[in-house]
Amino acid sequence: MRLLIMGPPGAGKGTQAAMICEEFGIPHVSTGDLFRLNLTQGTALGQEAKKYMDAGEYVPDSVTNGMVRERLKEADTKAGFLLDGYPRTVAQVAELDGMLSTTPLDRVIELTADTDEVVKRLLGRAIEQGRADDTEEVIRRRLEVYEEQTAPLTALYKSRGLLVQVDGLGSVEEVTARISAALNS
Ligand code: AMP
Repeated sequence: MRLLIMGPPGAGKGTQAAMICEEFGIPHVSTGDLFRLNLTQGTALGQEAKKYMDAGEYVPDSVTNGMVRERLKEADTKAGFLLDGYPRTVAQVAELDGMLSTTPLDRVIELTADTDEVVKRLLGRAIEQGRADDTEEVIRRRLEVYEEQTAPLTALYKSRGLLVQVDGLGSVEEVTARISAALNS
C-alpha cells in the first residue's frame, strides 16, 4: 500500500496516520516530523526549515524534495508507506511522480474538517503543549497557505481516480473506522 493522507492542519492527520500505519504495517513518512527531527538534532536542514515553520510558511522545495527523496530510498518503504504532509504543492506532486515512477500511489485520503473547528483544535493543542509560537495568527496563516497551495491537489488526485474523502469530524475511533472502510472497499 502506497498511501497519501491530506487535510488541513488540525484535521487529525497525525493521529489517523498512526492508526493506518499500524493496520497496514507500513512506515509513516511525515515531512513535518522529519523537519522536527532535524530541528532537535540541530542539523543545517533543520535550521533552514525552522524560519519557515515558525511563520506558518512552506519550507522551500529545494530543501523538502531532497529530504523526501532520501527517505523513500530507505528499505522500509519498499513494501509501502503512508505519506503525510507531502506533496503540498503542484510542483511537489510532479517531483513525487518522478520519485515513484513505476510504483505510483494506490490511494489518497483526504480528511475534511471545518475551519473554525480546526482553529479551535490547534489553539487548544498550542496551549496544552505550551507552544507559544502557535498563535492564532500563525494558525490562520497555515490554514490560508493550505487552502491556496495544497487544497487544489485533491482535484488533481480525484482526476486520477485515487481520491477518497473522509469526514474528519468525530471521535478518533469513528474517523479510523471510516478510513478503514474506504481503503478496504
Ligand atoms: P506539519 O507537521 O505537516 O503540519 O508540518 C509542519 C511544517 O513543516 C509546515 O507548516 C511547513 O512549514 C513544513 N512542511 C511540512 N511538509 C512540508 C512540505 N511538503 N513542503 C513545505 N513545507 C513543509
